[in-house]
Amino acid sequence: MKITISVLLLASNFIAQNHSEPCAFDHISNNQNIVKAEKVIQQGAITLKSNHTIKTIPVVVHVFHQGGTENISETQIQSQIDVLNEDYGKLTGTPGDGNGVDTEVRFKLAKIDPNGNCTNGVVRINSSLTNHKTYERPLLKQISFWDNTKYLNIYIVKSIPGGTLGYSSFPGGPADEDGLVVRHNYFGRIGTASSSMGRTGTHEVGHWLGLYHTFNNSCGTDLCTDGDYVCDTPPVATANFGCSASNSCSNDSPDLPDQIENYMDYTSEICSNMFTEGQRLRVQSSLTNLRADIWTQTNLVATGTDSLYAPPLVCSVVADFTSLNPEICVNNDVNFINTSLNEANAWTWYFQGGTPSTSNIENPVVNYSSLGMFDVSLVVTNGTTTDSIVMSNFVSVTNPGVGQTLPFQENFDSGIFPPNGISINNPDGGIGWELDSNASVSPNYSIRLDNLNSTNYGTIDEVVLPFLDLSSNTTTPWMKFNWAYAKSVSLYTDELIVQLSTDCGATWTQILYKNHNSLVTGPTQTTPFIPDDSQWKNAKINLSAYSNEQNVLIKIMNVTDGGNYLYIDDITIGDNSLSIENIDLLEGLKIYPNPTSGSFSVAFEFENNLPTQLRIFSVEGKLIRQVAVQNSITAIDLENVPTGIYFLMYEQNELIRTRKINIK
Ligand SMILES: [Zn+2]
Repeated sequence: MKITISVLLLASNFIAQNHSEPCAFDHISNNQNIVKAEKVIQQGAITLKSNHTIKTIPVVVHVFHQGGTENISETQIQSQIDVLNEDYGKLTGTPGDGNGVDTEVRFKLAKIDPNGNCTNGVVRINSSLTNHKTYERPLLKQISFWDNTKYLNIYIVKSIPGGTLGYSSFPGGPADEDGLVVRHNYFGRIGTASSSMGRTGTHEVGHWLGLYHTFNNSCGTDLCTDGDYVCDTPPVATANFGCSASNSCSNDSPDLPDQIENYMDYTSEICSNMFTEGQRLRVQSSLTNLRADIWTQTNLVATGTDSLYAPPLVCSVVADFTSLNPEICVNNDVNFINTSLNEANAWTWYFQGGTPSTSNIENPVVNYSSLGMFDVSLVVTNGTTTDSIVMSNFVSVTNPGVGQTLPFQENFDSGIFPPNGISINNPDGGIGWELDSNASVSPNYSIRLDNLNSTNYGTIDEVVLPFLDLSSNTTTPWMKFNWAYAKSVSLYTDELIVQLSTDCGATWTQILYKNHNSLVTGPTQTTPFIPDDSQWKNAKINLSAYSNEQNVLIKIMNVTDGGNYLYIDDITIGDNSLSIENIDLLEGLKIYPNPTSGSFSVAFEFENNLPTQLRIFSVEGKLIRQVAVQNSITAIDLENVPTGIYFLMYEQNELIRTRKINIK
């Protein structure tokens, strides 16, 4: 950072990030949902011009903390609600009273929770997830989430990597992605955020209400139908930091300077103080068309945010808990998370079938050594009030048996996806792992993740291998696979992560991590990356630390950041000598000629242990021909079948193998 930066600028939170992006909205938002929502917002805004009604939003704040200063006070949380009302209401005499308009939106902490309990609108969760990674945001919501048609969910965390202060979802996205994540020291304007003016909250709520950055789409081509889709915010080429005047685009007429006072730029908090009429219309349209339930009178009464509601001065405690891993394999641990409301400060847990069977700590870890379903009870108190909850059959303990014997080999060449025993996880339901026939190093197929078209940045897609018995290997077990990857823009990188679990997936250890230079095998390009043979690399992971484990789960993960295709092929787990390059040698198979006009020979380079049958399938999976294997060379004639791709399949060493045949 430059040392010459003025005292005025030091008061700015955004500039303090050294021009890294303070808001991760552009990297988190899901494009397909935005396109749909955008149409609705634009159409709605047209009909709303003369409509003026104040809409109140009930808010719940989930504070993720580890007992440090990030466990911010209720008064600090209320100070953010105050800032939102000043800024969205253009309240006279406050910093929000700039040249803009009253957007006619107000905010109130919820006083009644989804179950009808009294609440102060704050949920406190003691969890290491306070050290936030954007791809872990579904976990925050799995632990604590209130119906987003009734509440605006805001998550407070200790840290977000990369200088990010916060980010938000857009209207119209999936329910379990909805809400804001903000760093504790940028939430509100007192306490840990005393150097802030609370404008990170104002800005992020703007996204939640359907606003883009004023520099969205750069200068664009049209003031109204491009850029931020707001006619009365002048176009902006790139984000403004600090408070310096600028006129970065000249395609507007009259040619107006950048509106650095707008909350939706990255300008310093001290000089941002306005939303425009065009932004008000978008916000009102979003609330009318995409968040239509949250501000209704019925919901204000249900959430205790109606102006006539007089909440009790103090709420009684409400016992509640959850776990991210209530289903385990026998002899493993369940991690319990207290989610009780209203500042409970003492906990008494009872664990049927667990060790320990009782506990007084906030988030106990409990081992289960017998099979079955087990109840969990929790009694909480805050010194004056007490509450309890029993969850029947909350814990499920099963026995996975012993994993599959090594070696494990998968080259995806069967054309079946996912192959037997492999499972695919695609939590956001967007672009996931798929079969690819263009890039394989082994004969037919590899798998790929299309990061080029995946816009739900920060989300994970997983390939999970079957349970493996690593103790079945007589020598040190190794994991090997081939990968290929290119970036689309040099700044951004997708991530390749391999994790291993010895407790049936309850906890995972990272055994391989690649991004940027360690991941790239081909040139940066904005067209789909299709590697040639020289652009594949080989990963080798020594698994000696796990050589006694009989039940190992391994998963290969892609974390998307809008880069380019990531390919995986030829996964082997077994002896070090079992090299990927040897897969074809193990098969010892030649097909010639290939491509062929119809007649060809299949030759095995060994005499013993020959397969008994060769079968030819069409791409539709129809059996075309079945030929018995008599000796190491078998001639096959397909002269009278249509041209195209066919598959030769045979069984060898209890594995089904497939090779592609091209009939021209
Ligand atoms: Zn933003």
